[in-house]
Amino acid sequence: MKAAFMYGAGDVRVEDAPAPVIQEPTDAIVRAVRACICGSDLHPYHSLPGSEHGLSMGHELIAVVEEVGADVRTLKPGDFVVVPFAFSDNTCEICRDGFQTACPHGGWYGTPAAAGLQAELARIPQADGSAVVVPGVDPETAPEGLLKSLLALSDVYLTGYHAAFMAGIEPGQTVTVIGDGAVGLSAVLAARRMGAGTIILMGRHAARTDLGREWGATHVVAERGAEGVATVMELTGGLGSHAVLEAVGHMPAYEQAYGVVRPGGIISRVGVPQYEEAPVGFGSLFGKNARLAGGPAPVRAYLEDAIRDVLDGVIDPGRVFDRTIGLSEAAAGYAAMDAREALKVMVDPRR
Ligand SMILES: [Zn+2]
Repeated sequence: MKAAFMYGAGDVRVEDAPAPVIQEPTDAIVRAVRACICGSDLHPYHSLPGSEHGLSMGHELIAVVEEVGADVRTLKPGDFVVVPFAFSDNTCEICRDGFQTACPHGGWYGTPAAAGLQAELARIPQADGSAVVVPGVDPETAPEGLLKSLLALSDVYLTGYHAAFMAGIEPGQTVTVIGDGAVGLSAVLAARRMGAGTIILMGRHAARTDLGREWGATHVVAERGAEGVATVMELTGGLGSHAVLEAVGHMPAYEQAYGVVRPGGIISRVGVPQYEEAPVGFGSLFGKNARLAGGPAPVRAYLEDAIRDVLDGVIDPGRVFDRTIGLSEAAAGYAAMDAREALKVMVDPRR
């Protein structure tokens, strides 16, 4: 079968790989319907040292179950499923608390524990605790827009949702979203669903911020840094934002976040931090009694409800996908996202 590998910064190749097999009785083998490229895949695309051994890529997937291990109870061959970007048992105390991305029996794709999901076939560990069946949908005949929205639930939309959830947004509050990538736009949609009043989207790419406005942003701030902070402070009457959803992961975004958060407010980060140290002192968090939240989204915690919302037509998070490529064109897909020619690239492994 074909799968995508990264051999170093900017070097993505699609190669033949051995088809996955059941290793544990809790595993399932699935055949990809659609996968995609994540903004977080661009971090190694910029920085991965060159190697003779390719890194197996991808962690977002909708798929059809081909085979299940002896202990799998909730899935059977033929089921159409959404696969969250991390696997988990969904039964332990940590999972029951709603933090499946920290499950002690869970893990990540594209690691020795499980190959990446930009592939024709994939092994899903802890299948019962990870993949969720989409009832009543045949992926062969489903509209492309529905497939896109279901795929968006494997990571991007529910990562934006997690940012809003961890910020504890209450109806009428002012929310600032930093970043107009697919996660930031998803955070706008989720904040609107939670009843946010004013939603300020910090981003400078008009095609993207236009979708942000459609999804509920009341203001768009294109300025960055101190200028951007000043504009948000002006828009909030000098008070700042109750919640700041940071969907970038670089230090300037964090600096903007503590610059615009209101005293007593919450900064919720879902952009994977590309820094190890960050200010927490009087001039950043302490002086404002600001709280810091966020982390890898426990997609599994929100997935059943989100599948229902998509099937009911309440949300259409798949609109972040603005390009579709075949798996063999993965390298071009990464390049397009890196060059910001595409917001988010869907991969059709059967093309
Ligand atoms: Zn667990």
